[in-house]
Amino acid sequence: MGERQVEFRNVSFRYQEDMPWVLKNVNFKIGPDEWVAIIGHNGSGKSTIAKLMNGLLFPQEGEIFVDGNKVTQETVWEIRKQVGMVFQNPDNQFVGTTVRDDVAFGMENHGMPRKLMVERIQESLKAVRMGDYEHHEPHRLSGGQKQRVAIASVLAVSPTFIILDEATAMLDPKGRKQIMETVREVQQERDLSLITITHDLQEVTEASRVIVMNEGEVWTEGSPRDVFSRKERLTEIGLDTPFVSKLADHLKSEGVKLTREPLNHQELLEELW
Ligand code: ADP
Repeated sequence: MGERQVEFRNVSFRYQEDMPWVLKNVNFKIGPDEWVAIIGHNGSGKSTIAKLMNGLLFPQEGEIFVDGNKVTQETVWEIRKQVGMVFQNPDNQFVGTTVRDDVAFGMENHGMPRKLMVERIQESLKAVRMGDYEHHEPHRLSGGQKQRVAIASVLAVSPTFIILDEATAMLDPKGRKQIMETVREVQQERDLSLITITHDLQEVTEASRVIVMNEGEVWTEGSPRDVFSRKERLTEIGLDTPFVSKLADHLKSEGVKLTREPLNHQELLEELW
C-alpha cells in the first residue's frame, strides 16, 4: 500500500476506437482529507473521470493509481472497496426491499463476514441520520433520504474516497445543503477524501480544490478563490462563476475596491465594511 492518494497519470480515454477521445492526457492527484470539486460543461468528461476512478472503465492510455495500486482488471474489486460512488438517481441504485437489504447488498458483493455486516449497517445508517429507517422500503423514502441510504451503502464498505457524481442534483436547495452537511461530517469523522461533481457553484466555493474540465482536458485547477478569480480563463469557455463572485465583479466595475475574491455573502460583506 502506498500513501493515500488517487492519481491520474497522462490518462486518455475514448469509449470506442472509432470515436473521439473524451479525456486527453489528464493529470491530477487527490490526497488525504481533500474535498475536490470537479466542474465543467456537460460532456466535458467529469463522469468518465469518476468511472475511471473506481474501475468501471479503464483508460487506453496512461495510468490510474489508488493508494499506490494501479487500477486494472485484477485490482478492480479492491479498488471499488476504496473508492465509493454515489450517482444522481438513487432509484437506479436500489436493489433490496428494505433499507437494510440495500446497505447489505454492497457489502455482500465484497464478501464481508455476516457479523461485521450487521454492525456496519447500523453504523453507516446512523452516520447519515437514517438509523431509524432500517426496515423501511427504499422506494417510499424522500429524494434526500434515498440519497442518504445510497451514501450509507457506500460508507458500509469503508472506503477512503467517496465520489458524489451529481448526487444532490435532484434535490431542492435545502435538501442539497443538508446532505452536504452530513457528508462533510462523515468525511471529517472518518477521515475520507471527497470528490464531488456538481453544477452548484456556491457549493463548489466550499471545496478545498476545484478542477475545471473542458473538452476532456483539465482547463484550470486550484483553490476555489484562485479558480474563480481567473475570470477570463473561465469566460473563455463560457463557464459561470458563483453569484457572489459576479456581484463582486459588478461592484468592482462601479469602482468599489476589494482586497480579495469573496466566495460567499459573509466574505463580501466583510470586504464592504
Ligand atoms: P460530463 O460528466 O462532463 O457531462 P461525460 O464524462 O458523461 O461528461 O461524457 C464525456 C463524453 O463522452 C461526452 O461526449 C459523452 O457524450 C461521451 N460518452 C459518455 N458516456 C458514453 C458512452 N457510454 N458511450 C459513448 N460515449 C459516451
